[in-house]
Amino acid sequence: MMWFLKSQDEVFKEFNVNPDFGLSNEEAAKRLNQYGMNKLKGKPQKSILSLFLSQLNDMLIYVLLGAAAITFFIGEYSDAVIILLVVILNAVIGVVQEYKAEKAVEALQKMSTPKSLVRRNGEVIEINSEEVVPGDIIILDAGRFIPADIRLTESANLQIEESALTGESVPSNKDANANITDPKTPIGDRSNMAFMSTLVTYGRGEGVVVATAMDTEIGKIAKILDDDSSDMTPLQKRLDELGRILGFMAIGICVLIFIIALIQKRDIMEMFLTAISLAVAAIPEGLAAIVAIVLALGVTRMSKINAIVKKLPAVETLGSVNIVCSDKTGTLTQNKMTVTKHYTYGLLSDVPPTSNNLSASEATNELIKTLVLCSDATFDNGQGTGDPTEVALVVLGYKYNIKKEDLNKEHKRVSEFPFDSDRKLMSTLNIEGNGYRVNTKGAIDNLLKICSHVLADGKIVPLTDDIKREFLKVAEEMSDSALRVLGAAFKNTQSIIKPEEMEKDLILIGMVGMIDPPRLEVKDSIREAKNAGIIPIMITGDHKNTAVAIAKELDIAESIEQSITGAEIDEMSDEEFANNINKYRVFARVSPEHKVKIVRAFKAQGNIVSMTGDGVNDAPSLKYADIGVAMGITGTDVAKGASDMILTDDNFTTIVHAIEEGRNIYNNIKKAVIYLLSCNLGEVISIFLSILLKWPVPLLATHLLWINLITDSLPAISLGVDPGDHDVMKQKPRDPKESFFAKGAGIRAVIGGLLIGLLTLTVFFYGMSKSNYPIGSVISDYENADYQNALTHARTMAFVVLAASQLFYSLAMRSSTKSIFQVGLFKNKYLIGSICAGLLLQFIIISVPFLAKPFKVQSLTLGDWGLVILFALIPLVFNEIIKLFSRLAGNNKR
Ligand code: ADP
Ligand code: MG
Repeated sequence: MMWFLKSQDEVFKEFNVNPDFGLSNEEAAKRLNQYGMNKLKGKPQKSILSLFLSQLNDMLIYVLLGAAAITFFIGEYSDAVIILLVVILNAVIGVVQEYKAEKAVEALQKMSTPKSLVRRNGEVIEINSEEVVPGDIIILDAGRFIPADIRLTESANLQIEESALTGESVPSNKDANANITDPKTPIGDRSNMAFMSTLVTYGRGEGVVVATAMDTEIGKIAKILDDDSSDMTPLQKRLDELGRILGFMAIGICVLIFIIALIQKRDIMEMFLTAISLAVAAIPEGLAAIVAIVLALGVTRMSKINAIVKKLPAVETLGSVNIVCSDKTGTLTQNKMTVTKHYTYGLLSDVPPTSNNLSASEATNELIKTLVLCSDATFDNGQGTGDPTEVALVVLGYKYNIKKEDLNKEHKRVSEFPFDSDRKLMSTLNIEGNGYRVNTKGAIDNLLKICSHVLADGKIVPLTDDIKREFLKVAEEMSDSALRVLGAAFKNTQSIIKPEEMEKDLILIGMVGMIDPPRLEVKDSIREAKNAGIIPIMITGDHKNTAVAIAKELDIAESIEQSITGAEIDEMSDEEFANNINKYRVFARVSPEHKVKIVRAFKAQGNIVSMTGDGVNDAPSLKYADIGVAMGITGTDVAKGASDMILTDDNFTTIVHAIEEGRNIYNNIKKAVIYLLSCNLGEVISIFLSILLKWPVPLLATHLLWINLITDSLPAISLGVDPGDHDVMKQKPRDPKESFFAKGAGIRAVIGGLLIGLLTLTVFFYGMSKSNYPIGSVISDYENADYQNALTHARTMAFVVLAASQLFYSLAMRSSTKSIFQVGLFKNKYLIGSICAGLLLQFIIISVPFLAKPFKVQSLTLGDWGLVILFALIPLVFNEIIKLFSRLAGNNKR
């Protein structure tokens, strides 16, 4: 369809929609049914079955399946069945993990999908872009993605960046009234159209949806890029690599064991199975998977505290952040602006907080008129919508009986030059009598530069330096008391002028000061951040004095010396700026380009920086920061797209909470991984040493597989979801280069593994020594029932000790410094549950004859149980004693 050739009215008629009313809700629902959801078809969902099969597609599994086949052929049916069951159980656990992780990430993605402004039932509402239907009237503003293909019907300086479609990254100017007649006009030149997935970079507009989903231009060319690039985080990659190295080492040891066993003339079949099972048990193939599920569960938890993590690596980085740069307005403050003072030349007045029906002098009337006309916000029935700064102005008008609706009727807006945070100005052109009037508002210092006259005592007089100084003095006073200052100016013209012509030779009218109280909870978060070695930084487009006044209130800064303005930054070289950056806490009157400079300078000093942003121009600094944080409420789609994390409540406190969560999640991953490695090491040591010592093997293949199943899964994941420890916020941020095994973690894995392995051997030795065949005795008849019985008994004890000591040891992993009682023995209910379940299963397997037989184990006496439990507790107790001593040593040092 060549919509760009048709007139606007034709398009309205074709889609049967009135542009001032939009579609009715019923009609929209009907069309949604008819045309379907407005989304491009992505890659198809993986089915559970294919997930399951992909779990089996693994070298180790093939080896195990081969082993099952071999055992089956030589008649060891029970071994074959156990191996098969282990394979299936393993795959099921894998599927559950992967499914959960995927669902969690999907849910998060949903939360950050773009939204659109549509007019329906005569009202402008925000809906998910997926629910847009053909015929919808869409309102476009800077920073929004275009939700569908649209025939424009209104445009005000509208610029759209269409690189997604045309590859051209320079935004194109759009004109709703462009008359295009050539049907061969290329997409990039169809200036009365806007296309799905492109981006409004400037201005405003309106249009009617002509195509959605796969019918759009992008849908036609989209063979949606299969985003199959591995989404592994740096930590996952590192661990994957570590896993591979350890895996090769494990295989090497298994081969070695097999060779030694051959030389020792052991039973080949038994050794073959043992070696394979040991390989399966010892190869930490699950590391990356554990990390994935812990990260996924972690980010789900974070979304509940209003922090939506978009990119998983952000969780790791969060734990290292030591500089948090935050916008002032709305993040550190409430963004609930109220005008408290207004000033026209020679007259400063307070605005009483509650009273209405105030009467204003003529100059004040002019001031309010300009401020209200130059605002997009609305205020109905006590409810404001739009930029809070502008809502405050409209509310001010109401107090003085200068109603926005009335003004708008009399002075219709014909053109505008929208606000941007570089100019810090906004202008509109409104009808005034027979001509027009430019109404400009913005930062007073910038406004003074473009004013040539001033309204004084009802007359327009030249703006002298004295008067300028007077204005600046009053502005300074307001700023010092934390007020945000906004000036207003106007000029009359005979004809419609271009936006660039508006902001010159203006007549200054006056200014207003508005308060924006700090968020109450932020002060505590700032203290907490400082304790955690994190420096909070304020960044704002506002005046330096306003910013410093609020920074002092919040304990971000102590004096004005700790602040710098964008203009002052521009005067420094990059190097000079970077060398001095550490002394600043407040950056005022900055524009988005300065934010990039600030991030770069902080990073140059070796800091890990998080930066907040909401506007289109904030995208570069968000991308450049280690953690880009976008505002969920006021943020544009662009800012959200460029960010690593979105704050759904725009609150600084949430950043600090997210950092705490990030640190805890990283610690939990560490606990789970160190635990897994300890367990695997224990298994390798017990088998390897027994072979070297020429002992009978203390554990059979099926035992190893079984233990691997019950310890690798539930306890490891339970450690991964360990309740957070608030004390992480008393420590310094983690050095991102710090090794995973730093701070004694590696040593703990080795000690744990050694203890678990040695104790298993000891109990096996003890078991044999109680029989007629102590280890070392010369045995002529291996099939001797008495000997086999003794072996089974000793193996059962070793089996239980190996399993139980691993389960108990998981408790010690919860903290590297605090005792299990200090962290709260029962605080991690999942872990306690996993341990109990593991012990119960262990009990069942050796006590129920039907299960004990295939596993070649037997039930233990009460005395035996007491002994093995005692043994199994040793690694835990030993670890606790080490912690106790290091705590004592630490206290002495202090
Ligand atoms: P921040 O959000 O960091 O406080 P902004 O970039 O929003 O800063 O605003 C910077 C300055 O621009 C403000 O101090 C004010 O003078 C001016 N300003 C803010 N909002 C508007 C607006 N809607 N119209 C005109 N000027 C504005
Ligand atoms: Mg702002």
